[in-house]
Amino acid sequence: MHVFRLTGDFETLDAYTPLFFDLGARGMEEKEGEVWVYFPTRVELPLPGEWLELEDEDWLEAWKRDLQPVRAGPFVVLAPWHTWEGPERRIVLEPGMAFGTGHHETTRMALEALAREPIHGARVLDLGTGSGILAIAAAMRGAEVLGVDVDASVIPQAEANARRNQAPARFKVGSLEAAEPPYDLVVANLYAELHQTLAPRYAEILRPGGRALLTGILAEREAGVLRAMEDAGFSLLSRRQEGEWVLLAFRY
Ligand code: SAM
Repeated sequence: MHVFRLTGDFETLDAYTPLFFDLGARGMEEKEGEVWVYFPTRVELPLPGEWLELEDEDWLEAWKRDLQPVRAGPFVVLAPWHTWEGPERRIVLEPGMAFGTGHHETTRMALEALAREPIHGARVLDLGTGSGILAIAAAMRGAEVLGVDVDASVIPQAEANARRNQAPARFKVGSLEAAEPPYDLVVANLYAELHQTLAPRYAEILRPGGRALLTGILAEREAGVLRAMEDAGFSLLSRRQEGEWVLLAFRY
């Protein structure tokens, strides 16, 4: 794992967060006066900082030690060594390098939004599936799900996670071109600028009346997504915000 160390905090570096994730960042951590951005490989970045290399095992082991169960709506996301007594539906994930442990606000909001949708028997696309967490949750609720991701390395992790949860979700490398429309619902935890670009494509893959659950949107960039979705024929159904992150639910 490669770490890019920058001077500042989450707030001062906020404008760069979508770029980091777009370039493949797996996570960010605030330390005293610094932010560490974790990447699987080094990338070109347009701002001053210092690269460090961490042994993957060290990074993963430290992270795993600190990992706590996460509740989101009717679900609880657990690592295999966690125990849980509550009534929540368990999603057990082997923590790996793919994004999607349930610890990020966007993943949690997407899980809660999926739980409110009547998706039993519906066709669902999870665009940017990462660990497969959203696809797994949708499959557990009886949807027919395809998860796609441009990062080929996450697909085996998503498949293993689905098997572990006996969730009949399928996964493919790629983006919207790999989808098999029409869909009743698309859930996508990406970032605002990408949603804006993809808005007309969401309209193409959804049935009339279909829904789009979009997150990964920083509140300050929400207006652009709203405009692009409305221009593409969508109407806003609901909005949720946790911290600086927003989830927008649309109907086509
Ligand atoms: N769905 C998981 C969740 O909600 O926790 C993971 C979301 S993670 C923020 C975004 C994922 O989208 C990454 O795995 C990334 O590789 C993938 N991704 C980025 N751009 C994409 C695109 N244009 N099409 C499909 N996947 C994309």
